[in-house]
Amino acid sequence: MANPKYLSMNGEIVPFAEAKVHVLSPCVKYGAAVFEGIRGYWNAERRDMYLFRLKEHLDRLQFSMGVMRFGEPIDSRKVETALVELIKANEQREDIHIRVLAYIDGEGDMGSTGPVGWSISTLPAPRTKAVTEGVNVAVSSWRRINDNAMPARVKATANYNNGRLATLQGRLDGYDNVIMLTHLGRVAESPGSCLFMVRNGVPATPGVTSDILESVTRATCIRIFSEYLGRETEERDIDRTELYAAEESFFCGSGYEIQPVLSIDRHKLNGGIAGPLTRALQQKYFALVRGESDDHPEWRTPVWRAN
Ligand code: PMP
Repeated sequence: MANPKYLSMNGEIVPFAEAKVHVLSPCVKYGAAVFEGIRGYWNAERRDMYLFRLKEHLDRLQFSMGVMRFGEPIDSRKVETALVELIKANEQREDIHIRVLAYIDGEGDMGSTGPVGWSISTLPAPRTKAVTEGVNVAVSSWRRINDNAMPARVKATANYNNGRLATLQGRLDGYDNVIMLTHLGRVAESPGSCLFMVRNGVPATPGVTSDILESVTRATCIRIFSEYLGRETEERDIDRTELYAAEESFFCGSGYEIQPVLSIDRHKLNGGIAGPLTRALQQKYFALVRGESDDHPEWRTPVWRAN
């Protein structure tokens, strides 16, 4: 997939190759950066792109910057304006994945709180096989980072070293992805998404104190289950072997979208086929994000409407 022509740095459009930081910047030396992954969905009929739940993502970016004590504010309205400008400059009329990154620039030490730089990228992001077909996963022997050490609730780039260890081990062991447990041994999330299971017809997902990112998609799935599929989600502790007993399971996240989990530690769920509730959820989710359903217009920010 070709890279876009432009990226955005500190609110300015720059050629793709020129979006750089110095090797001595705290973001490189110490991983002093936080980010958001957001999707833009192209609606061919309306000739418009919709940014899904942009406000929630920008609010979470502010929260992450605050917890990590970034010393200079970034105005969310400026980020939104720069993002829309960038999509237009790239003439993107397709599904995209957006990364908004805020980082500590300069040459400071571990405790430096600025200067704060920010960048935006908008890369083409077509549908993956993980979404259409599903994934076979394992429970990782690597534990999820803990709130009192590296809070998973904060979307810090450094957190993803924990996810990398688990992901790479999982791949070497022959799995598509992994599920990570908390330090207490309860189900947390995957390296880049939240997790649901369906047991006895009831959707369940680990609570927000289970060392997970407080996911926008997780919240969306809970709403879809409740409002359209007549199911209330249990937010609760989940044991590892409950996953083996589940009828269905799926990963959810802005980047992952909704991925059916077909097997866990080689235990097949629903005979190794994506389950009916997961498929129904996917249908409603994609109709909402793409604006094929008129419900929840507050969740979609149109990009091209004005032009
Ligand atoms: N957990 C982790 C570790 C993630 O990286 C992501 C992706 N941002 C998620 C969960 C899902 O979060 P969201 O639905 O807000 O994208």
